[in-house]
Amino acid sequence: MGSIERIEHVAGKVIQAKRDGHDIVVVVSAMSGETNRLLEMANQISDSPVPRELDVLLSTGEQVSIALLSMALEKQGFSARSYTGTQVNILTDSAHNKARIERIDDSRICTDLGEGSIVVVAGFQGVDDNGNITTLGRGGSDTTAVALAAALNADECRIYTDVDGVYTTDPRVEPKARRLSQITFEEMLEMASLGSKVLQIRAVEFAGKYQVPLRVLSTFEEGEGTLITLEDEDMEAARISGIAFNRDEAQLTITGVPDHPGIAAGILGPISDANIEVDMIVQNVAGDDTTDFTCTVHRGDYDKALAILSDTAKKLGAREVSGDPEIVKLSLVGVGMRSHAGIASKMFKALADENINIRMISTSEIKISVVIEEKYLELGVRALHSAFGLEEDN
Ligand code: ASP
Ligand code: MG
Repeated sequence: MGSIERIEHVAGKVIQAKRDGHDIVVVVSAMSGETNRLLEMANQISDSPVPRELDVLLSTGEQVSIALLSMALEKQGFSARSYTGTQVNILTDSAHNKARIERIDDSRICTDLGEGSIVVVAGFQGVDDNGNITTLGRGGSDTTAVALAAALNADECRIYTDVDGVYTTDPRVEPKARRLSQITFEEMLEMASLGSKVLQIRAVEFAGKYQVPLRVLSTFEEGEGTLITLEDEDMEAARISGIAFNRDEAQLTITGVPDHPGIAAGILGPISDANIEVDMIVQNVAGDDTTDFTCTVHRGDYDKALAILSDTAKKLGAREVSGDPEIVKLSLVGVGMRSHAGIASKMFKALADENINIRMISTSEIKISVVIEEKYLELGVRALHSAFGLEEDN
């Protein structure tokens, strides 16, 4: 089978599962902008379209792409067959607009493959137990591809998109950002704020779970792209993979809270009851038997969370509530942190050398995150990028 990498302008993303170096199945997404166009049409009719009908509508974008791609392949002399999610039994739960794939019945695909055809499957869509069309959430074609690659036992799943890989950080912030040749599933998940622009995070989770190596490549240029895979020994030398950041957070602080059991639950309970997600949490004890508590929430939830916290403060007899919506979270990510000491102090020193004040710190096995003032974002990213030598090949 020849290369079919150059005909994807009839589709959006083209995703291939490969086995023994050959394409075994191609998953496509809608043409660029098509899903948004369909969404707009729905929104002209209703502010909150019925989720089931929205799925019927949105799934048409991919149906157009599979047909056009198959025609293009046939024109080039290949035998190709297109299928919607329903036709190849991509079975999902019934959560319209954000369904999860439960099972794939690959018998039809395998028959076609056995006959030498290229199978072109519509991404982003499936069918529930009752025959309703479902969709997997924005960017869901990536997840379809990984699920199919797992079901078909592919060696690698390749995602052709408009960037040529995953970078050490956002090149718009640090022009010296470098494409990574490899990154682990875990690191990719930690870099979500960078990675989600490249591929659907759920696809990375799926790939990690089923150990399907994923490669992100450019549709427009030749290149190796970035391989997202399991950790191997060589990777340990690459101590740090990248710097992610998130501008969407806001900080909330409650000080002088009487320190007794149940305080954290008492503060966070009303916030979660209001469906507000909390990201970082820090609590410390002062000498006077009171405690200070700081957390971050999505910036869009800031006003609401501040009001709830002020209410809680009164009830608990706390001293003061304050907040700052103009903060960012910077995260240094790398599996090398597991085996190398001193990464945190090096990170904090690099920020201190630029006079950047750290407000909060949190760590996981392969990530150190700090909250800083938003105005220092660019400076902070560049300082860390250079301190950890990310512009050079490692
Ligand atoms: N067409 C869908 C979207 O725009 C799915 C995808 O592109 O993967 O979100
Ligand atoms: Mg898309």
